[in-house]
Amino acid sequence: MSAVYLDYNATAPVRPEARAAVLAALEAGGNPSSVHAVGRAARARLEAARGQVAALMGAPASTVVFTSGGTEANALAIESAVASGARRLIVSAVEHDAVIETARASGAAVEFWPVDAQGRVQLNWLSARLERWDASEGAAFVALMLANNETGVIQPVAEAAEMVRAAGGWLHVDAVQAAGKIGFDSRALGADTLAVSAHKLGGPQGVGALTFGPRARLSRRIHGGGQERGWRAGTENLPGAAGFAAAAAAAVQGLELMAAQAAWRDAAQARLRDAGAEILGADAARLPNTLCLAMPGYPAELQVMNLDLAGVMISAGSACSSGKVKASHVVSAMGRADLAGCAIRVSGGWATIAEDWTEFAEAWIKARERHAARRRAPAA
Ligand code: PLP
Repeated sequence: MSAVYLDYNATAPVRPEARAAVLAALEAGGNPSSVHAVGRAARARLEAARGQVAALMGAPASTVVFTSGGTEANALAIESAVASGARRLIVSAVEHDAVIETARASGAAVEFWPVDAQGRVQLNWLSARLERWDASEGAAFVALMLANNETGVIQPVAEAAEMVRAAGGWLHVDAVQAAGKIGFDSRALGADTLAVSAHKLGGPQGVGALTFGPRARLSRRIHGGGQERGWRAGTENLPGAAGFAAAAAAAVQGLELMAAQAAWRDAAQARLRDAGAEILGADAARLPNTLCLAMPGYPAELQVMNLDLAGVMISAGSACSSGKVKASHVVSAMGRADLAGCAIRVSGGWATIAEDWTEFAEAWIKARERHAARRRAPAA
């Protein structure tokens, strides 16, 4: 039995191009701040990487700051907004914890922007809220992800950006899950800041980036040397940036193939629906690689364990870093708190093949039948 890995939204396998670029950067060595030849070569490598990551984001390279990942990129945006005077943050109810917990820890008031039953933010809520904005709370700061990590649901970011811009506010976009799965352009979206992360698209873990537009007032959160044009001190993670860039370039080239994967996901979805599963966000525009499903009475933790025994790796809708499963705040925000403990996330990516989705569907149906049979069996 070969293993099936359908947990790309947690971490994608490293692409061969990315592995090669990491190794090449490690072998070449050098500190980009050194003035000698090896240092200058390292600088050139770093700036080339910045250009490729900028292309992934649709942003000028001069506005791209490398970070330690998506979490830090989100934090740089949120903490900068608070440092520049924002005292109330509007955060979509389905944001990743990296955004929600950073907002909560920032000292500003946090207000949640509701979503509909499909997991899409309600634009009329935002327009009404911005109309009665109290200017004494500073400029409005709004965080809206481009695509959700659990459901894959794509948010109406450009529409939200127009509203936020008209209100003189700052729109932050967490594009960590969207990057490399759908094409986008940070400037066309109207994002004031936008975060991405390498390991979700086949790059190494521990490297991400933030791009910022002219209206965002970024502030230094990490002090020391003048790296990253002063925005983030510390010797740059050059192997990480090089790996990120190679993965980004491959991901951009592979967007059409990625889009075609939706057909495999949809075929599995249809089989699971027939078997009684509820699909979350199925009527919204979604990433082509993501499926979120819930089975009433079949806890997510058990689904994940049973599939693991069958050699299929997926995630619970929401898993803490401890590996324990907690009820999904995303599913709850969609009005389905009843399903929040029994939702799982299945996500493919660049090395996924059609058979992976077929094997997953078959394994899930078998495991579910066994689970149902055990529940029916009279207690001994
Ligand atoms: N934002 C979203 C939507 C995510 O899915 C994740 C990772 O799961 C993050 C942010 C955090 O990114 P990183 O793991 O690079 O810190």
